[in-house]
Amino acid sequence: MKSSRREFLKVGGISSLGLLAAPTLANTIYKVGNSKDRKKVIIVGAGLAGLSTAYELTKTGHDVVLLEARMQPGGRVRTKRSAFAENFYVEEGAGRFPKSHNLTMRFIEEFGLETTPFYPQSGNLVTYVGKTHLYNSYAEQRNMAKVQLPFTTVERQSGEGGLFEKYVRPTLNQLGDITNRDWLSSDLRALDQLSWTEFLRKQGMSDAAIRFFNVGAININDGHEISALWLLRDMLSGGKKYKIKGGNDQLPRAFANRLAPSIKYGKPVKRIEQFEFGVEAFFKTEGSIGSVRGDYLVLATPFSVARRIDIPSLSKSRRQLISGLTYASASRVTLQFDKRMWEGNDLNGFATSDHPLQTWHPTFDQPGSRGILQAYIRLSLSRQLSGMSEQERVLFTLSKMEEIFPGLKNNFEGGSAKCWDQDPWAKGAASVHSPGQLTMFENAFDEPEGRIYFSGDHLSPWPAWMQGALYSGLDTASKIDSL
Ligand SMILES: Cc1cc2nc3c(=O)[nH]c(=O)nc-3n(C[C@H](O)[C@H](O)[C@H](O)COP(=O)(O)OP(=O)(O)OC[C@H]3O[C@@H](n4cnc5c(N)ncnc54)[C@H](O)[C@@H]3O)c2cc1C
Repeated sequence: MKSSRREFLKVGGISSLGLLAAPTLANTIYKVGNSKDRKKVIIVGAGLAGLSTAYELTKTGHDVVLLEARMQPGGRVRTKRSAFAENFYVEEGAGRFPKSHNLTMRFIEEFGLETTPFYPQSGNLVTYVGKTHLYNSYAEQRNMAKVQLPFTTVERQSGEGGLFEKYVRPTLNQLGDITNRDWLSSDLRALDQLSWTEFLRKQGMSDAAIRFFNVGAININDGHEISALWLLRDMLSGGKKYKIKGGNDQLPRAFANRLAPSIKYGKPVKRIEQFEFGVEAFFKTEGSIGSVRGDYLVLATPFSVARRIDIPSLSKSRRQLISGLTYASASRVTLQFDKRMWEGNDLNGFATSDHPLQTWHPTFDQPGSRGILQAYIRLSLSRQLSGMSEQERVLFTLSKMEEIFPGLKNNFEGGSAKCWDQDPWAKGAASVHSPGQLTMFENAFDEPEGRIYFSGDHLSPWPAWMQGALYSGLDTASKIDSL
């Protein structure tokens, strides 16, 4: 308890923090290798879900073909290289993970990759709330006394950690094993009907405390949109965060190297047909339409883009699921500076604010005299950004960051932006369920329809995490193998 609470206090934002030990993956050791027949499996999408499905099926002797729309593997795991000075690289998609994500860790180790801390251990973080700057090290709590918000006396006395212990921890302790198919008890179903803000209000938190509590929690500054149960489950991914040394894209690339001949890049699938003894996928290729046939097909794309694939055999209820799932907006804006001016003030470059915006410093462990700060922008602010030109996005973000690090503009050299809403093969960052959606889609998500299986982080207990994509990939491989 002690260390997880310290984690909570040190980064100052719920979704990125260590609040609880993650649940074990009880009963989820997949048995691949039970198959009676060798099968030909078409996999649509070479993100981590599709790649891990293919990897496991290949190991046990099945034939796979992966059809990928992009010219590279990895989907939403995307490291941007070569665009910056001094060989800097940054993450435009998946950034960090706790070591409790055992499948992420399992494959990192299997492929001989190394992890390194995501956050620097020295220097101060900035919290920018209500135009007040708070500075604290990782080990310290943010000082509520300095914030001009109408907290109640009890809230001021409890401090930030106390708010969490009083209002959130008791419910978190009741979540149980999220990998269990019968996970949703009647109490949890009721929680799913509430938005995060409604939940905190019901627990007795004042609006001022809710605002302060949510600072830095990029998923919940617009708390009304998101199921309270979804967020509580997401908090189980707390704890110290890590990244892959040299770039997170090495994980999907390691899978892809082992599957190389089976992956067909630049092949966006447009239509899927199934018949009594097989399936056929139709894809665009060099100005015409190609097709491939198999025994089974795994649709390993986010539902936000699966919506555009024509699948005449799908049931009405499945279509409703695919079209109804909510996807959150997220953008990463990367700004390069001619020096790391923030370090002169003993700041480590990481910051949170009461906008859905976090600031990261991806070059804190990369050599060079220049430096890069990256804004991780979500929800309403990200949607606003999506409607701007590239230059406007960069300048808008620079002005937001200037409020947090005054003087930053003087060292600005240039920047770039990635808005996931505009990405044709993602159309959003990740599925983040609205109130009621966990209950509504319970059990219906990952069941196959005939010969078509569905895979992806959105179908797992860890949506919006690489762990979720890998979990779903292994689950799908196991199901197909055991047919
Ligand atoms: C901004 C952002 C921040 C994130 N932060 C984190 C984080 O800190 N930690 C973490 O663990 N995870 C994070 N994630 C989530 C993580 O990236 C995803 O959960 C995971 O990568 C999803 O893998 P997937 O295989 O399910 O889907 P995807 O990675 O989306 O893969 C789907 C693949 O299908 C392809 N495709 C789509 N349509 C078609 C078509 N018609 N035909 C053929 N191919 C198609 C796509 O090109 C893509 O390659 C983040 C994601 C984003 C976007």
